Amino acid sequence: MIPRERFAHLPTPVESLPRLTEHLDGPRLLVKRDDQTGLAFGGNKTRKLETLLAEARKQGARSLITSGAVQSNHCRQTAAAAARFGLECTLVLTGPQPDSLSANLQLDHLFGARIVWADPRPRDEVMNEVYERARANGEQPYLVPYGGSSPTGAAAYALALEELLDQKVRPEWIVLATSSGGTQAGLMAGQARLNFEGQILGISVDKATSVLQPGIARLAGEVSELLASPSSFAPEEVQIKDNYVGQGYGRPGAPDRKAIRLLARLEGLLLDPVYTGRAAAGLIDLIRQGFFAPNQTVLFWHTGGTPGLFADRYRDFLNA
Ligand SMILES: *Cc1c(COP(=O)(O)O)cnc(C)c1O
Repeated sequence: MIPRERFAHLPTPVESLPRLTEHLDGPRLLVKRDDQTGLAFGGNKTRKLETLLAEARKQGARSLITSGAVQSNHCRQTAAAAARFGLECTLVLTGPQPDSLSANLQLDHLFGARIVWADPRPRDEVMNEVYERARANGEQPYLVPYGGSSPTGAAAYALALEELLDQKVRPEWIVLATSSGGTQAGLMAGQARLNFEGQILGISVDKATSVLQPGIARLAGEVSELLASPSSFAPEEVQIKDNYVGQGYGRPGAPDRKAIRLLARLEGLLLDPVYTGRAAAGLIDLIRQGFFAPNQTVLFWHTGGTPGLFADRYRDFLNA
């Protein structure tokens, strides 16, 4: 079994969404609460960091370096994990530096992370520079991959599927937000390993299906290898809907807002403006189109991100 530090609050609950189910008059809806994984407001990166931190500590790392967007949940959770294990943390952030600190970016500062702004240079160039400098300083840095989506990080989601099945929940469909693809790749590796009969559908928040499929298929294969249950995946086996990306990453639109409000008002459940709002908008649209059979059970895998609700940049969007 793959080494893992234990700090997430697991298993996360599975809850039913009776009022949303009734409102949409479609399949039975459940939610897997990975917004409640426990580390600094939680989210899907907490699980990935359990396996990544085990790898970092085995390598004797004294610092973590990673990158993301200004309001990256991955960066916030990495900064929290670094603090918890007494490691230095450097975050290379893209996008123009905002005038004020809010939400995830404010929390990055609170956790004592060092912030390096990449703009206008390419992110990876700046990352490499930061990494080489940390190495020269004797920090023994560990590079946390983008979105935590190396085979080691993604493997945490193969374990997460096992957790779900241990909860005696066997939905016909799992629907989730997909971006770097590690969460979906891990779930697919778990699906093959555990002979799970349900289907896994990623709602892309930014990239085209043709871009996501090969990468997720390859990563799922690598995770399977790592878990000693080799399996290979064809790109076409990776189920993605890319028609909900709207204006693109971090630019939520009216359908995203509608989905966020609907879940809030019918279930008291919070989604986020970048990932889960968009994935829920896709799920709701698919239900209205009759994509799922009425007698099926569909589990929405909540991947977190709710601190984004408090970001300055999304205030106008949420209040519109
Ligand atoms: C990172 C993130 C995702 C996407 O997960 P990937 O493994 O990168 O596809 C989805 N939802 C939230 C809230 C995230 O922070």
